[in-house]
Amino acid sequence: MRTTWRIGRLFGIKVNIDSSWLIIFGLVTWSLASSYFPAQYPAWNTWLHWTVGVATSILFFASVLAHELTHSLVAIRQGEKVRGITLFIFGGVAEITEEPKRPSKEFLMALAGPLSSLVISGIFTLLWFLSRNLIEPVSALASYLAMINGSLALFNLIPGFPLDGGRVLRAVIWSLTDNRRLATRVASWIGRGVAFLFIFAGIWQVFSGAWLNGLWIAFIGWFLNNAAITGYRQVVMRDMLREVRVEDLQAPTYEAVNPGLTLQRLVDDYMLRRRDHAYPVVEGDQLQGIICLHDVKAVPRKKWSETQVSQVMTPWDRLVTVSVGDDGNTVLSRFGTHDVNQLPVVEGRRLMGIVRRSDVISHLQLQSELGS
Ligand SMILES: [Zn+2]
Repeated sequence: MRTTWRIGRLFGIKVNIDSSWLIIFGLVTWSLASSYFPAQYPAWNTWLHWTVGVATSILFFASVLAHELTHSLVAIRQGEKVRGITLFIFGGVAEITEEPKRPSKEFLMALAGPLSSLVISGIFTLLWFLSRNLIEPVSALASYLAMINGSLALFNLIPGFPLDGGRVLRAVIWSLTDNRRLATRVASWIGRGVAFLFIFAGIWQVFSGAWLNGLWIAFIGWFLNNAAITGYRQVVMRDMLREVRVEDLQAPTYEAVNPGLTLQRLVDDYMLRRRDHAYPVVEGDQLQGIICLHDVKAVPRKKWSETQVSQVMTPWDRLVTVSVGDDGNTVLSRFGTHDVNQLPVVEGRRLMGIVRRSDVISHLQLQSELGS
């Protein structure tokens, strides 16, 4: 189970830290303070090595954050929704909820990140230039950050999907062929080729004695390979779901309950008899809310017979719904952005059906087994 912490908002975008990030932050700080700076500046004392090491490491991750923030701001500018930015062991990721709809949008969004890293590298080069004969710790920090941000820009420009350069390449092929799936396939082939080069280079290094460095490079290759495969699958899945209507995904049967029902009856007559954990609450034909196992468990058992469903359900105004006529991609992105397991299908406020997360998955499995 992965843990992420929300650390704040920047320009309205949520910034999260994944627990795996602590490992890379620790490793980078430690290698800067105990080996990189001591080798370059042996005259400094340990205290100074660590102070500059920690400061450099913090600024490095702030630079990674700025890179992802630039992707996100350009995406928002283009009318996309951004769920947030998460820093994790391999750097950062901006979670943009939908695939861009036009190649030009993707081109700008992808290019913005490496460009921001180049600008940051330029700023640190300037800082290094100004401080080089005056304050050695500052110029040391600045020269490292200029170099690392420059490498970050170059690494991200490698034309393999899902790296930024791969997205740029995909946008170019997509605009030339007008076929996003083909463009993604080519860009992820190259991405997987690059990933295997990393894995081989890593293994080579391990056998040449630089085992820690080698393992790290191979590990990055393994991650890139997985990301290239998943990225392509997602595009295929989205293409498949675009043809699907909400009505095709709806559960064949579902049971609605009355708002006046007690929790005891809900548990005895519904939850224990059926496998469903959640029920739409309906009065007349108007949807009032949804009650789920989680809501019931929040109430002490001895109060179940005196508590009504309407008192603890998620009410209508807080429900996430889909409308009759929406396509499968809308359903998928609702499930992606909200932590729910079922979506009521409505027309106005009338309940027309229910789509469960598991229905979408089984539909996709059936489709791919039928080979369509
Ligand atoms: Zn990027």
